[in-house]
Amino acid sequence: MKFETKAIHAGQDPDPLTGAVVPPIYQTSTYKQDGVGGTRGGYEYSRTANPTRRALEECLAALENGTSALAFASGMAAEDCLLRVLCRPGDHVLIPADAYGGTFRLFDKVLSRWGVSYGTVRQNDLEAVDQAAAGRKPKLIWAETPTNPLLSVIDIRALAEVAHAHQALLVTDNTFASPYLQQPLDLGADIVVHSTTKYLGGHSDVVGGAVVVKDPALAADLAFTQNATGGVAGPFDAWLTLRGVKTLAVRMERHCANATRVAEMLAAHPAVSEVFYPGLPGHPDHKIAATQMRGFGGMVSFRVAAGPDKAVEICGRTRLFTLGESLGGVESLIEHPARMTHASASGSPLEVPADLVRLSVGLEDVGDLLADLRQALG
Ligand SMILES: *Cc1c(COP(=O)(O)O)cnc(C)c1O
Repeated sequence: MKFETKAIHAGQDPDPLTGAVVPPIYQTSTYKQDGVGGTRGGYEYSRTANPTRRALEECLAALENGTSALAFASGMAAEDCLLRVLCRPGDHVLIPADAYGGTFRLFDKVLSRWGVSYGTVRQNDLEAVDQAAAGRKPKLIWAETPTNPLLSVIDIRALAEVAHAHQALLVTDNTFASPYLQQPLDLGADIVVHSTTKYLGGHSDVVGGAVVVKDPALAADLAFTQNATGGVAGPFDAWLTLRGVKTLAVRMERHCANATRVAEMLAAHPAVSEVFYPGLPGHPDHKIAATQMRGFGGMVSFRVAAGPDKAVEICGRTRLFTLGESLGGVESLIEHPARMTHASASGSPLEVPADLVRLSVGLEDVGDLLADLRQALG
């Protein structure tokens, strides 16, 4: 099955009991047993497994070409479970120099207390990654591509080779691209993580996360720890996410088309000093993006020529672009990373420029979006 077909059908056979075309919301905590130990299909308690969650997990595994997926209550719950499974005190992890703020905080403020250390490196500099890996012998290399908020694109295949040469696993946070635009497991990554809150859910109405793997033994470890620690996706959240996933392919096409037009307009605008969008031919990682991705995504960042105060002002002046954190929904959003999503990276090596504005370009009419940005830029 091709991607669009899997998004609609994988894990979603009509309900055997009623023929319901859409997987029912199994809003139940427990399941009747037919005699002690006589579970139906192995379902005994919904922290351990739930049919609606399982439908989402099967669909996500199919979309990423993995063997299994696990769905969590949030992207951070997914990351936390994965890192508890893979890391022990004394282990080191290499993370991107512009990692997602919440990921940075998890390493910097939580895992550091448990003896797991991290180092940052610009991952599009493979030599720097190789050197850092040779020096610190990391257990994992944690990658994001495109990165947030500077939209660097990392060569996943090359990074996987570097990781494996140093006996490290490569984890790829595929939230910004979504599995429609890129499939890291096919490129050599060992594990994919998602905040399904973003493009997979796609409608800004549910928080969730996922881990996708291609190693059955790791999947079993993860399932054990997911059940032991409990950060699972609830049935209604799993259902909402699955509903969003069905239209992922068509949504991503429009996100990419609208973002390209927005990036081109900003690149020609005198109030803008620099635009970050991998689809622009002048972007330093344009070539690798063009070979690795099916499209360039819906995220665009730009620096404001007049400086940080003006950047903050612009964020308050748009009418269609809603001022808010998060991304990947049908509606366009605008934010100031240095004071919002990336405030926790302030003063660290991951600090982002204060004149930077980040856009999540939605599915509205692109003419309306361009007009809104033009009036806000003045
Ligand atoms: C939002 C996000 C996360 C965290 O996911 P939540 O669902 O908010 O917990 C992780 N990585 C990236 C790239 C994100 O954008």
